[in-house]
Amino acid sequence: MTDTAFDSLALKADLLSNLASLDYHQMTPIQGQSLPHILAGKDVIAQGKTGSGKTAAFGLGLLQALDVKRFRVQSLVLCPTRELADQVAKEIRRLARSIHNIKVLTLCGGTPFGPQIGSLEHGAHIVVGTPGRIVEHINKGRLKLEDVNCFVLDEADRMLEMGFQPDLETIVAALPAQRQNLLFSATFPAQINSMAKNIMDAPEVIKVASTH
Ligand code: ADP
Ligand code: MG
Repeated sequence: MTDTAFDSLALKADLLSNLASLDYHQMTPIQGQSLPHILAGKDVIAQGKTGSGKTAAFGLGLLQALDVKRFRVQSLVLCPTRELADQVAKEIRRLARSIHNIKVLTLCGGTPFGPQIGSLEHGAHIVVGTPGRIVEHINKGRLKLEDVNCFVLDEADRMLEMGFQPDLETIVAALPAQRQNLLFSATFPAQINSMAKNIMDAPEVIKVASTH
């Protein structure tokens, strides 16, 4: 049997000790199947239903790759709605509690531009946002993505349903060609496959049918 304890992974010691303090000991199935590939730097497509622990799967991947001493946007996470982006940012901050001075910034529609622009001027390591607002910041020249090494599409099925495909294409065009792509989704419509073909590099495909 494969070991499903978090401490079987080559995660940084501060991430592992924080996981223990959060009472995260065993990986969920989707975490166990995706994290070895994510930590190896591969592109991953992972399908699993709500509550299967997808946020920590990509969150630990991007935190492991992050260099907190470089105050640049190194990870970009896209979510379909502001509520989901807020939840994801909250979970990433929890997973990152042991990393001093880490800045996770949310950039979503339905909130004023002014404070977001101020926060961007201040800087961030990780940006979590909704596609429309991220495109607006790119077009205004406020969001620099040249240091992004990890790009995450969370709830990709919902983003496509909501008509975000053109925004996703604009965002991908603004990212460095060399990057890791992680795509998470509860369902796997054909449109996801064709999008994945365009933006990903030989992805590992993981499907977890049940929660346990
Ligand atoms: P999904 O995005 O797949 O719907 P979430 O990432 O929101 O799922 O996780 C669901 C819940 O499970 C969250 O409250 C999260 O804190 C918790 N969780 C995730 N992974 C673990 C784990 N390995 N051990 C304990 N709790 C976990
Ligand atoms: Mg989720």
